[in-house]
Amino acid sequence: MLTLQNLVDEATRTVVFTGAGISTESGIPDFRSPGGVWTKMKPIYFQDFVGSEEMRREAWRRRFEGGDKLVGSKPNKGHAVIADLVTAGKVSHVITQNIDNLHQDSGVPEDKVIELHGNATYAHCLDCKERYELEDLRAPFVEEGIIPMCKSCGGIVKSATISFGQPMPEWEMLQAEEATLACDLFLAIGSSLVVYPAAGFPILAKKNGARLVILNREPTELDPYADLVLNAEIGPTLSALTL
Ligand code: NAD
Ligand code: ZN
Repeated sequence: MLTLQNLVDEATRTVVFTGAGISTESGIPDFRSPGGVWTKMKPIYFQDFVGSEEMRREAWRRRFEGGDKLVGSKPNKGHAVIADLVTAGKVSHVITQNIDNLHQDSGVPEDKVIELHGNATYAHCLDCKERYELEDLRAPFVEEGIIPMCKSCGGIVKSATISFGQPMPEWEMLQAEEATLACDLFLAIGSSLVVYPAAGFPILAKKNGARLVILNREPTELDPYADLVLNAEIGPTLSALTL
């Protein structure tokens, strides 16, 4: 019988792919579960952010009111087991759709985390890419209503996430493809697998001959392609693994 333990033991090179579900046990709501972020507020599209000062003000208001709980949360058991798998040399890369920095916070080295949708824990200039810390932008915005602009070039400053309507980051997409093609086991964890192109990676892995495991509380559209589907909670399931 195929089990997660057997598959992990037999694999020589594993890639972990995560979605918002890995972070719900840290108290960060996902998007598509009942009560998820989208049942409460609509996403702001990139074109609207760039095109309208009012939309930028709304985006920064959401960020600094902390309604998304993205900043300040702590990694959970699931993150910790994945970090252990990386340290043990079983997992080559963690490809993540998440923007919460929790894989890095759990101890996975920066160069092994591939962020497909960027990172919400800092901001950058859309033109010259200069990095800005949220803490430095908070007081001017909250106290004086100043919308962040780049001090070096005057460009628009935005949280370092990939919004809807924004092109995918080229380097990260290439790295993710390379990692996917080099693995013989692909673990898709806590993703509804409906956001493309990210959800193309499990399929690419499978087509390339890797085994595919989907661990998610509820069924996904890619379940028919998987060698093993685990409809279970992430923390307890990963914690049961013996490394
Ligand atoms: P999603 O919200 O579409 O899907 C999450 C899936 O995880 C759901 O199918 C849900 O049933 C499952 N799930 C939730 N908690 C679980 C648990 N404890 N155990 C098992 N399964 C669990 O998330 P997605 O596929 O990542 O796509 C949403 C997009 O939203 C991503 O692009 C991501 O960038 C962004 N997002 C990120 C965060 C974050 O960084 N933590 C949070 C919300 C949304
Ligand atoms: Zn700039």
